[in-house]
Amino acid sequence: MHHPGTATPERRFPAQERFADGAQYVAGRLTKGTSGRTHSVVDPATGTEVYRYELAGPEDVDAAVAAARAAFPAWSALTPGERSDALHRFAAVLADHAEEFARAESLQCGKPLKLTRQFDVPGTIDNTAFFAGAARHLQGQSAGEYSGDHTSYVRREPIGVVGSIAPWNYPLQMAAWKILPTIAAGNTVVLKPAELTPLTSLLFAEAATAAGIPDGVVNIVTGTGKEAGEHLVGHPDVAMTSFTGSTAVGRRVAEIATATVKRIHLELGGKAPFVVFDDADLEAAANGAVAGALINTGQDCTAATRAYVQRPLYEAFVEQTAALMESVRLGDPFAPGTDLGPLISHAQRDRVAGFVDRARGYARVVTGGAAPLGDLAHGAYYRPTLIADAPQDSEVVQSEIFGPVLVVLPFDGDDEGIGLANDTPYGLAASAWSRDVYRANRATREIKAGCVWVNDHIPIISEMPHGGYGQSGFGKDMSVYSFEEYTQVKHVMFDNTAVARKDWHRTIFGDR
Ligand code: NAD
Repeated sequence: MHHPGTATPERRFPAQERFADGAQYVAGRLTKGTSGRTHSVVDPATGTEVYRYELAGPEDVDAAVAAARAAFPAWSALTPGERSDALHRFAAVLADHAEEFARAESLQCGKPLKLTRQFDVPGTIDNTAFFAGAARHLQGQSAGEYSGDHTSYVRREPIGVVGSIAPWNYPLQMAAWKILPTIAAGNTVVLKPAELTPLTSLLFAEAATAAGIPDGVVNIVTGTGKEAGEHLVGHPDVAMTSFTGSTAVGRRVAEIATATVKRIHLELGGKAPFVVFDDADLEAAANGAVAGALINTGQDCTAATRAYVQRPLYEAFVEQTAALMESVRLGDPFAPGTDLGPLISHAQRDRVAGFVDRARGYARVVTGGAAPLGDLAHGAYYRPTLIADAPQDSEVVQSEIFGPVLVVLPFDGDDEGIGLANDTPYGLAASAWSRDVYRANRATREIKAGCVWVNDHIPIISEMPHGGYGQSGFGKDMSVYSFEEYTQVKHVMFDNTAVARKDWHRTIFGDR
């Protein structure tokens, strides 16, 4: 189907031909899932099916885990330098195929090409290059003679097969965040992408193979959470579960993983506050709020969702933010000049619209609050929306909306602003806006979140950790901190005395 105002279909990604062999990647090749059920990937910009595939069932998960298990001894025995070389080659293959990745990601998610070309894809290549370097820097405590009679040292060892589960909002970057530190540390992996968005995870796994990473080190099973996901989490040959997704599903994953005492890593939801003090640069804050709230059509776990603005700036902030939101160009993700694409699906759009419609009863919808008409009516679009004056305990302030919706509330004293920022169960990310270094510094200390930006909101970098506080989960993605997730620490202790009856044996043999 071709709608007026959309790019020609040739310019999109030929998903059906490209992945005609199936959406499972096991032991270095594509296969079809054996669940007996199929799933359609839908282009959310048009509502048309772009790829239909056979979902993974438990047998596909078993095959992928077996492949990962078989690949583990040889992969984990490589030197850090050899794994680093493989990851450098991986980064080069990704760079050669950057445009294909950008188109596939834009197609399945509805992200504007400028976002996938300038953010998702280069970020992923940079992550790969980072972990290529970091692979050679797995660090532990320095060795020493702590007891006096022994030499102790610490080995950081891989864990085995890691079962990872990713969400649909940043499929490529989430695949990268899950897979790269895992394999850099010498583990092998089975990743289950969200069933809505398998394309770039499959491309990523193929690129690993093209870079010479051995078959079975990176496997992809594309199935539903209930079937493939739960089977992967419960699998006895999987040593660890790494999950990124909603807090509700994270709880379920933790429950299942507990039965086999698996190590778990949970990156869950967020409801990031954006705190604007009355000495802030208002123009910078308004621009930052709009970009921070609308990135990826608001489907970002760190997106600015709750702006708390100190009373003297409040009305001006509402006005400027609304005007900026109205200047953002909604359109086809593949058309030049598009700032904002659709949401991931019509169901997600309707869910977002439900939040906004209910808010009309208790708050002020300043701008947006509707789906666009005309050329875009077939897609899962929703206008950038600003909601003012919602009570702190209302659902638009407390729950993750995951759409292009920013809620703005006033506050008076600094204590109140910081208190409101901390008043949700989440704690993934936050920002503080002020030109007073003491005030900003206080906010960074007192806001409970895994990341606090000052005078910006959103940027991430490979060298620094990403992860939550509170019900946003635990464990870190990216950075050398992620190695703590994907390695286990072993204490090795050598006796240095070479005597048969050691001093401490007095606790057993006779008196001193
Ligand atoms: P989701 O929790 O619905 O699904 C995430 C993944 O879990 C999908 O692959 C899904 O198939 C799978 N899944 C669903 N039920 C399962 C089950 N019972 N057992 C095992 N796996 C199951 O989340 P979503 O809607 O895909 O993504 C949006 C959510 O992800 C938001 O809450 C967002 O904040 C969160 N997120 C968090 C981060 C972070 O770094 N903290 C990053 C991106 C997204």
